[in-house]
Amino acid sequence: MIEVFDLVKKYGPTAAVKGISFAAQPGQVTGFLGPNGAGKTTTMRMLTGFLPPTTGKAVVAGYDVFEQSMEVRKRVGYLPESVPLYRDMTALGYLMYMGEIRGIDNRRQKAMEVLERVQLVNRADSRIRTLSKGMRQRVGLAQALLHNPEVLILDEPTIGLDPIQVLELRDLIRELGKSHTLLFSTHILSEAEQVCDDVIIINQGQIVAQGSPTALRGSLERGGRVLLRLNAPAEAALPVLGALDEVAYAEPGLDGIVITPPNPNTDPRPAIARAVIAHNWDLIELRPLAVNLEEIFLELTRAETVAVQPDGAAAEPQSSESEVAQS
Ligand code: ATP
Repeated sequence: MIEVFDLVKKYGPTAAVKGISFAAQPGQVTGFLGPNGAGKTTTMRMLTGFLPPTTGKAVVAGYDVFEQSMEVRKRVGYLPESVPLYRDMTALGYLMYMGEIRGIDNRRQKAMEVLERVQLVNRADSRIRTLSKGMRQRVGLAQALLHNPEVLILDEPTIGLDPIQVLELRDLIRELGKSHTLLFSTHILSEAEQVCDDVIIINQGQIVAQGSPTALRGSLERGGRVLLRLNAPAEAALPVLGALDEVAYAEPGLDGIVITPPNPNTDPRPAIARAVIAHNWDLIELRPLAVNLEEIFLELTRAETVAVQPDGAAAEPQSSESEVAQS
């Protein structure tokens, strides 16, 4: 398990991480999702004991990262964004060397076991420089698994891989998540949606939302934009709908009228339904506009922050300094 309490990291006067708290559970893949510069790498480096925090506390596999960092390192496998591999070594040689540094017994056997786990046994004797980028990434993952850690922290593991390699690695991450506490970072929203049991969205050093992909989607579907299709002239309906308190904008869209509430916590559908009945319009369809994590992410990193509870209910909005996120 990973538990983080009010963690802050300042680089000089700049705060890269501004007091974040979260937990990542065993047997789950927890995704750390955010645009470039959000603070993902900084947080992961603190959790692996490579970077001291400015303030705050983190407990990984039951040990305080900053007070008992050697205990933590024994129990954490870390795949940094760019793995420092020795390109002239073979995959097996590199893993045995890493095993030696970490004081692991039965190094050859352990190295072969992790190569098996990352499906690279057939390239055990290949020099690392002759491996594809995806294979090298898997060698990096193998070194993270070498000491059989209970916690895995993977920093943007799929970056730079081709689509097939990405799919293979995502499958492996899901598989590893079943037997580890697995925290991995990504700026790819669909990846978080596909791989994670729990997603933590971070922007400008702050957590802006946390929940399962379904809960995150549900929270916006409840209060997000809706599509209304009527068997009535849009010109008649638009001013009526636009005047409702629960509606910020009513605009003609490709499939019908797109209605945006004044904030994501307002569900405009009951008010729209009453207006439809009051005006005797024929209703064809009233539904939440399909949202994906991309839209949720943009929504959540705009002016307001919405905390999502595990059941998908949106909590009270908090103020945030964030502007529209760039991913
Ligand atoms: P990316 O996806 O681009 O790697 P990230 O979410 O991992 O982004 P970080 O690398 O943690 O973000 O960076 C967070 C902020 O801290 C950024 O504004 C970055 O410029 C700044 N930063 C990171 N490392 C340092 C450093 N060593 N010195 C000063 N500022 C830093």
